[in-house]
Amino acid sequence: MDREHANYRTANKQLIKEINMTLVLQMVRELGPISRADISKRTGLNPATVSSHLQLLLEHGVVRETGSGESSGGRKPTLLALVPDAYYAVAVDMGTTKVQAALVNLAGHVKRKLEIPFGESRTPQTVLAVMEDAVRQLLNGQSNKSDEEEGQEQNDENLSDDNGECNDEPHDKGMDTDQHDNTNEKERILGIGIGFHGLVDPERGVSLFAPAFQWTDVAVAERFEQSFSLPVIVDNDARAMAFAEKWFGAAKEIDDFIFLNIGTGVGSGIYAHGRLITGSGFGAGEIGHIPLVNNGIRCYCGQIGCLHTVATGPAIERRARAHMDHQEASMMRKLADGDPYQVDGALVSHAARAGDQIARQILREAGMYIGRALAMAVNLLNPSCIFIGGGVSRARELILDSIVQEIKKRSMRQHVENIRVELATFGDHAGVVGAATLVLADFFQNPLRYFKQVAKSYHA
Ligand SMILES: [Zn+2]
Repeated sequence: MDREHANYRTANKQLIKEINMTLVLQMVRELGPISRADISKRTGLNPATVSSHLQLLLEHGVVRETGSGESSGGRKPTLLALVPDAYYAVAVDMGTTKVQAALVNLAGHVKRKLEIPFGESRTPQTVLAVMEDAVRQLLNGQSNKSDEEEGQEQNDENLSDDNGECNDEPHDKGMDTDQHDNTNEKERILGIGIGFHGLVDPERGVSLFAPAFQWTDVAVAERFEQSFSLPVIVDNDARAMAFAEKWFGAAKEIDDFIFLNIGTGVGSGIYAHGRLITGSGFGAGEIGHIPLVNNGIRCYCGQIGCLHTVATGPAIERRARAHMDHQEASMMRKLADGDPYQVDGALVSHAARAGDQIARQILREAGMYIGRALAMAVNLLNPSCIFIGGGVSRARELILDSIVQEIKKRSMRQHVENIRVELATFGDHAGVVGAATLVLADFFQNPLRYFKQVAKSYHA
Protein backbone atom coordinates (compact mmCIF):
# COMPACT_ATOMS: atom_id res chain seq x y z
CA MET A 1 0.00 0.00 0.00
CA ASP A 2 1.40 3.44 -0.85
CA ARG A 3 1.82 6.06 1.81
CA GLU A 4 -1.15 8.18 0.72
CA HIS A 5 -3.51 5.25 1.06
CA ALA A 6 -2.07 4.33 4.43
CA ASN A 7 -2.62 7.89 5.68
CA TYR A 8 -6.13 7.86 4.34
CA ARG A 9 -6.91 4.60 6.11
CA THR A 10 -5.57 5.93 9.39
CA ALA A 11 -7.63 9.11 9.07
CA ASN A 12 -10.67 7.07 8.20
CA LYS A 13 -10.22 4.80 11.20
CA GLN A 14 -9.89 7.83 13.47
CA LEU A 15 -13.07 9.32 12.02
CA ILE A 16 -15.01 6.09 12.55
CA LYS A 17 -13.74 5.94 16.11
CA GLU A 18 -14.92 9.50 16.73
CA ILE A 19 -18.34 8.80 15.26
CA ASN A 20 -18.81 5.63 17.29
CA MET A 21 -17.74 7.35 20.49
CA THR A 22 -20.23 10.14 19.80
CA LEU A 23 -22.98 7.58 19.27
CA VAL A 24 -22.23 5.67 22.46
CA LEU A 25 -22.14 8.83 24.57
CA GLN A 26 -25.34 10.03 22.93
CA MET A 27 -27.10 6.82 23.98
CA VAL A 28 -25.96 7.22 27.59
CA ARG A 29 -26.89 10.91 27.66
CA GLU A 30 -30.33 10.48 26.11
CA LEU A 31 -31.38 7.06 27.38
CA GLY A 32 -29.22 6.37 30.45
CA PRO A 33 -29.17 4.50 32.72
CA ILE A 34 -28.72 2.03 29.90
CA SER A 35 -26.97 -1.34 29.55
CA ARG A 36 -24.08 -2.15 27.22
CA ALA A 37 -26.26 -4.64 25.37
CA ASP A 38 -28.97 -2.06 24.84
CA ILE A 39 -26.46 0.46 23.44
CA SER A 40 -25.13 -2.23 21.10
CA LYS A 41 -28.62 -3.10 19.93
CA ARG A 42 -29.67 0.52 19.36
CA THR A 43 -26.47 1.67 17.61
CA GLY A 44 -25.76 -1.52 15.66
CA LEU A 45 -22.19 -1.44 16.99
CA ASN A 46 -20.74 -4.76 18.10
CA PRO A 47 -20.53 -5.35 21.88
CA ALA A 48 -16.73 -5.22 21.96
CA THR A 49 -16.68 -1.79 20.29
CA VAL A 50 -19.35 -0.49 22.68
CA SER A 51 -17.39 -1.80 25.67
CA SER A 52 -14.10 -0.28 24.61
CA HIS A 53 -15.68 3.14 24.05
CA LEU A 54 -17.49 2.93 27.38
CA GLN A 55 -14.20 2.02 29.02
CA LEU A 56 -12.67 5.29 27.81
CA LEU A 57 -15.75 7.24 28.95
CA LEU A 58 -15.49 5.57 32.37
CA GLU A 59 -11.78 6.45 32.58
CA HIS A 60 -12.56 10.08 31.86
CA GLY A 61 -15.32 10.01 34.45
CA VAL A 62 -18.01 11.04 31.97
CA VAL A 63 -20.11 7.95 32.62
CA ARG A 64 -20.46 5.75 35.67
CA GLU A 65 -21.85 2.34 36.38
CA THR A 66 -25.05 2.58 38.31
CA GLY A 67 -26.75 -0.50 39.63
CA SER A 68 -28.19 -3.22 37.48
CA GLY A 69 -31.15 -3.39 35.17
CA GLU A 70 -33.79 -5.97 34.34
CA SER A 71 -32.41 -9.28 33.19
CA SER A 72 -33.74 -10.97 30.10
CA GLY A 73 -32.60 -14.30 31.52
CA GLY A 74 -29.14 -14.76 33.02
CA ARG A 75 -27.07 -12.17 34.87
CA LYS A 76 -28.56 -8.70 35.43
CA PRO A 77 -26.80 -6.16 33.19
CA THR A 78 -24.87 -3.22 34.67
CA LEU A 79 -26.37 0.13 33.74
CA LEU A 80 -24.42 3.21 32.71
CA ALA A 81 -25.34 6.82 33.29
CA LEU A 82 -23.88 10.25 32.53
CA VAL A 83 -21.91 12.02 35.28
CA PRO A 84 -23.14 15.62 34.91
CA ASP A 85 -20.26 17.13 36.89
CA ALA A 86 -17.53 15.35 34.94
CA TYR A 87 -16.93 18.48 32.88
CA TYR A 88 -18.09 22.07 32.75
CA ALA A 89 -18.48 24.84 30.25
CA VAL A 90 -17.75 28.41 31.20
CA ALA A 91 -20.59 30.56 29.91
CA VAL A 92 -20.44 34.28 29.28
CA ASP A 93 -23.61 36.13 28.44
CA MET A 94 -22.81 39.61 27.31
CA GLY A 95 -25.81 41.84 27.90
CA THR A 96 -26.01 45.52 27.11
CA THR A 97 -25.63 46.71 30.70
CA LYS A 98 -23.85 43.81 32.40
CA VAL A 99 -22.03 40.57 31.85
CA GLN A 100 -23.08 37.30 33.43
CA ALA A 101 -20.66 34.40 33.72
CA ALA A 102 -21.51 30.92 34.91
CA LEU A 103 -20.12 27.46 35.31
CA VAL A 104 -22.53 25.00 33.69
CA ASN A 105 -22.30 21.22 33.87
CA LEU A 106 -22.92 18.53 31.25
CA ALA A 107 -26.61 18.42 32.15
CA GLY A 108 -27.00 22.14 31.49
CA HIS A 109 -27.26 23.02 35.20
CA VAL A 110 -25.77 26.25 36.49
CA LYS A 111 -23.31 25.48 39.28
CA ARG A 112 -22.15 29.04 39.94
CA LYS A 113 -22.99 32.36 38.46
CA LEU A 114 -21.78 35.90 38.80
CA GLU A 115 -22.70 39.22 37.36
CA ILE A 116 -20.63 42.34 36.71
CA PRO A 117 -22.18 45.60 35.50
CA PHE A 118 -20.34 47.51 32.79
CA GLY A 119 -19.01 50.95 33.64
CA GLU A 120 -19.62 54.01 31.51
CA SER A 121 -17.36 52.98 28.67
CA ARG A 122 -18.53 50.55 25.99
CA THR A 123 -15.40 50.30 23.92
CA PRO A 124 -14.34 46.77 22.91
CA GLN A 125 -11.28 47.07 25.16
CA THR A 126 -13.19 47.91 28.33
CA VAL A 127 -16.12 45.56 27.72
CA LEU A 128 -13.89 42.59 26.86
CA ALA A 129 -11.79 43.32 29.93
CA VAL A 130 -14.90 43.16 32.14
CA MET A 131 -15.87 39.88 30.49
CA GLU A 132 -12.43 38.39 31.07
CA ASP A 133 -12.51 39.56 34.65
CA ALA A 134 -15.86 37.79 35.10
CA VAL A 135 -14.40 34.54 33.77
CA ARG A 136 -11.36 34.80 36.04
CA GLN A 137 -13.48 35.45 39.12
CA LEU A 138 -15.74 32.56 38.22
CA LEU A 139 -12.83 30.18 37.73
CA ASN A 140 -11.46 31.27 41.09
CA GLY A 141 -14.61 30.00 42.71
CA GLN A 142 -16.46 33.25 43.11
CA SER A 143 -20.15 33.75 42.71
CA ASN A 144 -22.31 36.74 43.54
CA LYS A 145 -25.60 35.20 42.61
CA SER A 146 -26.71 33.15 45.58
CA ASP A 147 -29.78 30.96 45.39
CA GLU A 148 -31.56 33.46 47.62
CA GLU A 149 -30.82 36.31 45.24
CA GLU A 150 -31.92 34.18 42.33
CA GLY A 151 -35.23 33.67 44.11
CA GLN A 152 -35.68 37.38 44.55
CA GLU A 153 -34.77 38.00 40.98
CA GLN A 154 -37.45 35.60 39.88
CA ASN A 155 -40.05 37.79 41.56
CA ASP A 156 -38.59 40.99 40.28
CA GLU A 157 -40.29 41.89 37.06
CA ASN A 158 -37.70 44.21 35.64
CA LEU A 159 -38.64 44.05 31.99
CA SER A 160 -35.46 45.66 30.75
CA ASP A 161 -33.17 42.88 31.80
CA ASP A 162 -31.50 41.04 29.01
CA ASN A 163 -32.79 37.72 30.19
CA GLY A 164 -35.56 37.17 32.56
CA GLU A 165 -37.39 34.76 34.68
CA CYS A 166 -40.94 34.62 33.51
CA ASN A 167 -42.73 31.82 35.26
CA ASP A 168 -42.14 30.36 38.67
CA GLU A 169 -42.55 26.77 37.69
CA PRO A 170 -40.66 25.45 34.73
CA HIS A 171 -38.11 28.14 35.25
CA ASP A 172 -36.24 27.17 38.30
CA LYS A 173 -34.27 24.65 36.34
CA GLY A 174 -31.60 26.86 37.64
CA MET A 175 -28.86 26.77 40.13
CA ASP A 176 -27.65 23.42 41.25
CA THR A 177 -27.38 23.62 45.01
CA ASP A 178 -25.02 20.67 45.45
CA GLN A 179 -21.82 21.49 47.21
CA HIS A 180 -19.03 20.76 44.83
CA ASP A 181 -15.35 20.14 45.25
CA ASN A 182 -13.50 22.87 43.30
CA THR A 183 -10.05 21.39 43.55
CA ASN A 184 -9.71 19.90 40.10
CA GLU A 185 -12.48 21.94 38.57
CA LYS A 186 -10.14 23.95 36.37
CA GLU A 187 -8.92 20.81 34.64
CA ARG A 188 -12.51 19.92 33.91
CA ILE A 189 -13.36 23.00 31.88
CA LEU A 190 -14.15 22.10 28.28
CA GLY A 191 -14.15 25.61 26.93
CA ILE A 192 -15.77 29.02 26.99
CA GLY A 193 -19.09 29.76 25.28
CA ILE A 194 -19.98 33.40 24.69
CA GLY A 195 -23.39 34.81 23.74
CA PHE A 196 -23.33 38.24 22.15
CA HIS A 197 -26.10 40.53 20.97
CA GLY A 198 -26.17 41.60 17.32
CA LEU A 199 -24.53 39.95 14.35
CA VAL A 200 -21.97 37.29 15.19
CA ASP A 201 -19.87 35.08 12.94
CA PRO A 202 -19.65 31.86 14.98
CA GLU A 203 -17.13 30.31 12.59
CA ARG A 204 -14.49 32.98 13.19
CA GLY A 205 -15.74 33.99 16.64
CA VAL A 206 -16.15 37.60 15.57
CA SER A 207 -18.77 40.12 16.72
CA LEU A 208 -19.64 41.57 13.30
CA PHE A 209 -21.95 44.28 14.60
CA ALA A 210 -23.02 44.92 18.17
CA PRO A 211 -25.60 47.69 17.73
CA ALA A 212 -26.00 48.61 21.40
CA PHE A 213 -22.25 49.34 21.54
CA GLN A 214 -21.86 50.41 17.92
CA TRP A 215 -19.00 47.96 17.41
CA THR A 216 -18.01 46.27 14.21
CA ASP A 217 -15.66 43.34 13.62
CA VAL A 218 -14.33 42.59 17.09
CA ALA A 219 -12.37 39.32 17.32
CA VAL A 220 -13.80 37.98 20.56
CA ALA A 221 -12.86 34.29 20.38
CA GLU A 222 -9.22 34.97 19.53
CA ARG A 223 -8.76 37.21 22.54
CA PHE A 224 -10.34 34.74 24.96
CA GLU A 225 -8.39 31.82 23.51
CA GLN A 226 -5.18 33.71 24.12
CA SER A 227 -6.16 34.76 27.63
CA PHE A 228 -7.36 31.38 28.86
CA SER A 229 -5.82 28.73 26.56
CA LEU A 230 -9.23 27.15 26.14
CA PRO A 231 -11.44 26.58 23.10
CA VAL A 232 -13.89 29.46 22.68
CA ILE A 233 -17.17 29.48 20.78
CA VAL A 234 -19.06 32.73 20.20
CA ASP A 235 -22.55 33.11 18.78
CA ASN A 236 -25.56 35.39 18.81
CA ASP A 237 -27.22 35.26 22.25
CA ALA A 238 -30.78 34.49 21.10
CA ARG A 239 -29.50 31.77 18.79
CA ALA A 240 -27.57 30.27 21.71
CA MET A 241 -30.75 30.36 23.84
CA ALA A 242 -32.65 28.48 21.13
CA PHE A 243 -29.79 25.99 21.04
CA ALA A 244 -30.13 25.46 24.82
CA GLU A 245 -33.89 24.99 24.52
CA LYS A 246 -33.20 22.26 21.95
CA TRP A 247 -30.43 20.47 23.87
CA PHE A 248 -31.57 20.86 27.46
CA GLY A 249 -34.99 22.47 27.53
CA ALA A 250 -38.52 21.90 26.32
CA ALA A 251 -37.65 21.68 22.60
CA LYS A 252 -35.74 18.38 22.68
CA GLU A 253 -38.35 16.68 20.52
CA ILE A 254 -39.32 19.75 18.51
CA ASP A 255 -37.79 20.31 15.07
CA ASP A 256 -39.52 23.56 14.08
CA PHE A 257 -39.65 26.30 16.65
CA ILE A 258 -38.83 29.95 17.29
CA PHE A 259 -37.16 31.24 20.44
CA LEU A 260 -37.90 34.91 21.00
CA ASN A 261 -35.69 36.77 23.45
CA ILE A 262 -37.14 40.13 24.37
CA GLY A 263 -35.58 42.36 27.00
CA THR A 264 -33.44 45.41 26.36
CA GLY A 265 -33.39 44.30 22.74
CA VAL A 266 -35.18 41.69 20.65
CA GLY A 267 -33.62 38.66 19.03
CA SER A 268 -34.66 35.22 17.96
CA GLY A 269 -33.26 31.80 17.23
CA ILE A 270 -35.03 29.76 14.59
CA TYR A 271 -35.03 25.98 14.24
CA ALA A 272 -36.28 24.54 10.97
CA HIS A 273 -36.14 20.81 10.21
CA GLY A 274 -34.17 20.28 13.40
CA ARG A 275 -31.45 22.73 12.35
CA LEU A 276 -30.61 26.14 13.73
CA ILE A 277 -30.83 28.67 10.90
CA THR A 278 -27.97 31.16 10.64
CA GLY A 279 -28.61 32.79 7.25
CA SER A 280 -26.07 33.64 4.58
CA GLY A 281 -24.39 36.34 6.64
CA PHE A 282 -25.25 35.01 10.14
CA GLY A 283 -28.12 37.48 10.35
CA ALA A 284 -31.14 35.14 10.45
CA GLY A 285 -33.59 35.76 13.27
CA GLU A 286 -33.33 39.57 13.46
CA ILE A 287 -37.05 39.80 14.17
CA GLY A 288 -36.52 43.05 16.11
CA HIS A 289 -36.06 44.90 12.86
CA ILE A 290 -39.32 43.92 11.21
CA PRO A 291 -40.97 47.30 10.55
CA LEU A 292 -44.38 47.50 12.24
CA VAL A 293 -45.22 51.16 12.75
CA ASN A 294 -45.58 53.74 10.01
CA ASN A 295 -44.21 57.14 11.05
CA GLY A 296 -42.72 55.58 14.18
CA ILE A 297 -39.43 56.21 15.93
CA ARG A 298 -36.13 55.68 14.15
CA CYS A 299 -34.41 52.47 15.21
CA TYR A 300 -30.64 52.19 15.66
CA CYS A 301 -30.60 49.98 12.55
CA GLY A 302 -31.61 53.05 10.53
CA GLN A 303 -35.18 52.01 9.73
CA ILE A 304 -38.38 53.52 11.12
CA GLY A 305 -40.83 51.77 13.45
CA CYS A 306 -39.09 48.42 13.98
CA LEU A 307 -40.46 45.97 16.58
CA HIS A 308 -37.42 46.97 18.63
CA THR A 309 -38.76 50.52 18.99
CA VAL A 310 -42.17 49.51 20.37
CA ALA A 311 -41.90 46.31 22.42
CA THR A 312 -38.59 46.15 24.32
CA GLY A 313 -38.21 46.98 28.01
CA PRO A 314 -36.96 50.53 27.26
CA ALA A 315 -39.86 51.07 24.80
CA ILE A 316 -42.37 50.01 27.48
CA GLU A 317 -40.73 52.35 30.00
CA ARG A 318 -40.77 55.24 27.56
CA ARG A 319 -44.47 54.82 26.87
CA ALA A 320 -45.26 54.52 30.55
CA ARG A 321 -43.41 57.76 31.35
CA ALA A 322 -45.28 59.57 28.62
CA HIS A 323 -48.63 58.48 30.07
CA MET A 324 -47.96 59.17 33.73
CA ASP A 325 -50.29 62.16 33.83
CA HIS A 326 -53.22 60.15 32.58
CA GLN A 327 -56.07 59.75 35.02
CA GLU A 328 -56.09 55.97 34.79
CA ALA A 329 -52.36 55.71 35.56
CA SER A 330 -52.99 56.19 39.26
CA MET A 331 -51.09 53.12 40.43
CA MET A 332 -48.01 53.91 38.34
CA ARG A 333 -47.98 57.45 39.75
CA LYS A 334 -48.27 56.14 43.27
CA LEU A 335 -45.53 53.52 42.87
CA ALA A 336 -43.23 56.09 41.28
CA ASP A 337 -44.01 58.85 43.81
CA GLY A 338 -45.12 60.92 40.86
CA ASP A 339 -41.60 60.89 39.37
CA PRO A 340 -41.57 59.63 35.75
CA TYR A 341 -37.89 58.73 36.10
CA GLN A 342 -38.75 56.16 38.75
CA VAL A 343 -40.74 54.23 36.17
CA ASP A 344 -39.13 51.04 34.93
CA GLY A 345 -40.43 47.80 33.46
CA ALA A 346 -40.89 46.16 36.85
CA LEU A 347 -42.98 49.10 38.03
CA VAL A 348 -45.19 48.97 34.92
CA SER A 349 -45.71 45.27 35.50
CA HIS A 350 -46.54 45.73 39.21
CA ALA A 351 -48.92 48.57 38.45
CA ALA A 352 -50.66 46.48 35.78
CA ARG A 353 -51.09 43.63 38.23
CA ALA A 354 -52.56 46.05 40.75
CA GLY A 355 -55.15 47.15 38.19
CA ASP A 356 -53.57 50.24 36.60
CA GLN A 357 -55.41 50.49 33.28
CA ILE A 358 -52.70 52.46 31.45
CA ALA A 359 -49.99 50.01 32.52
CA ARG A 360 -52.17 47.12 31.33
CA GLN A 361 -52.80 48.85 28.04
CA ILE A 362 -49.08 49.49 27.49
CA LEU A 363 -48.22 45.82 28.09
CA ARG A 364 -51.10 44.66 25.90
CA GLU A 365 -49.88 46.91 23.11
CA ALA A 366 -46.32 45.66 23.39
CA GLY A 367 -47.68 42.10 23.27
CA MET A 368 -49.72 42.97 20.22
CA TYR A 369 -46.64 44.21 18.34
CA ILE A 370 -44.66 41.14 19.36
CA GLY A 371 -47.54 38.94 18.21
CA ARG A 372 -47.76 40.81 14.92
CA ALA A 373 -44.07 40.23 14.18
CA LEU A 374 -44.36 36.60 15.25
CA ALA A 375 -47.39 36.09 12.99
CA MET A 376 -45.20 36.99 10.01
CA ALA A 377 -42.61 34.48 11.18
CA VAL A 378 -45.33 31.86 11.70
CA ASN A 379 -46.65 32.30 8.17
CA LEU A 380 -43.14 32.04 6.76
CA LEU A 381 -41.79 29.18 8.86
CA ASN A 382 -44.80 27.25 10.19
CA PRO A 383 -43.24 26.39 13.57
CA SER A 384 -45.01 24.08 16.02
CA CYS A 385 -43.87 26.00 19.08
CA ILE A 386 -42.76 29.50 20.08
CA PHE A 387 -40.77 30.07 23.26
CA ILE A 388 -40.77 33.54 24.78
CA GLY A 389 -37.87 34.51 27.03
CA GLY A 390 -36.09 37.64 28.22
CA GLY A 391 -36.98 40.34 30.72
CA VAL A 392 -40.22 41.41 29.02
CA SER A 393 -41.59 37.87 29.42
CA ARG A 394 -41.52 38.46 33.20
CA ALA A 395 -44.85 40.24 32.77
CA ARG A 396 -46.17 36.73 32.06
CA GLU A 397 -49.88 36.59 31.18
CA LEU A 398 -50.08 40.40 31.09
CA ILE A 399 -48.15 40.26 27.84
CA LEU A 400 -48.39 36.62 26.78
CA ASP A 401 -52.16 36.67 26.31
CA SER A 402 -52.04 39.48 23.80
CA ILE A 403 -49.06 37.89 22.01
CA VAL A 404 -51.01 34.67 21.54
CA GLN A 405 -54.17 36.50 20.55
CA GLU A 406 -52.37 38.52 17.89
CA ILE A 407 -50.49 35.51 16.49
CA LYS A 408 -53.78 33.65 16.13
CA LYS A 409 -55.53 36.63 14.62
CA ARG A 410 -52.89 37.33 11.98
CA SER A 411 -51.52 33.95 10.94
CA MET A 412 -53.04 31.41 8.57
CA ARG A 413 -55.61 29.44 10.51
CA GLN A 414 -54.02 26.09 9.65
CA HIS A 415 -50.66 27.31 11.00
CA VAL A 416 -51.99 28.16 14.44
CA GLU A 417 -54.51 25.42 15.11
CA ASN A 418 -52.00 23.44 17.18
CA ILE A 419 -49.27 25.98 17.80
CA ARG A 420 -47.87 26.21 21.33
CA VAL A 421 -46.69 29.54 22.71
CA GLU A 422 -44.78 29.05 25.95
CA LEU A 423 -42.47 30.81 28.33
CA ALA A 424 -38.85 29.73 27.86
CA THR A 425 -37.42 26.98 30.06
CA PHE A 426 -34.38 28.60 31.66
CA GLY A 427 -35.78 31.99 32.61
CA ASP A 428 -33.05 34.08 34.17
CA HIS A 429 -30.40 31.53 33.28
CA ALA A 430 -31.31 31.42 29.58
CA GLY A 431 -28.35 33.57 28.53
CA VAL A 432 -25.69 31.58 30.35
CA VAL A 433 -27.20 28.16 29.66
CA GLY A 434 -27.35 29.21 26.00
CA ALA A 435 -23.72 30.30 25.95
CA ALA A 436 -22.68 27.09 27.72
CA THR A 437 -24.60 24.96 25.23
CA LEU A 438 -22.35 26.25 22.44
CA VAL A 439 -19.51 24.35 24.11
CA LEU A 440 -21.47 21.44 25.63
CA ALA A 441 -23.11 20.53 22.32
CA ASP A 442 -19.73 20.66 20.62
CA PHE A 443 -18.37 18.28 23.25
CA PHE A 444 -21.24 15.82 22.84
CA GLN A 445 -20.78 15.95 19.08
CA ASN A 446 -17.14 14.90 19.34
CA PRO A 447 -16.03 13.93 22.84
CA LEU A 448 -12.78 12.30 21.69
CA ARG A 449 -11.41 15.60 20.43
CA TYR A 450 -12.10 17.19 23.82
CA PHE A 451 -10.46 14.37 25.79
CA LYS A 452 -7.21 15.16 24.00
CA GLN A 453 -7.50 18.85 24.64
CA VAL A 454 -8.61 18.96 28.28
CA ALA A 455 -5.43 17.15 29.18
CA LYS A 456 -3.68 20.45 28.45
CA SER A 457 -4.27 22.45 31.58
CA TYR A 458 -5.78 25.86 31.89
CA HIS A 459 -3.75 29.01 32.46
CA ALA A 460 -5.48 32.12 33.71
ZN1 LIG B 1 -34.46 48.29 13.54
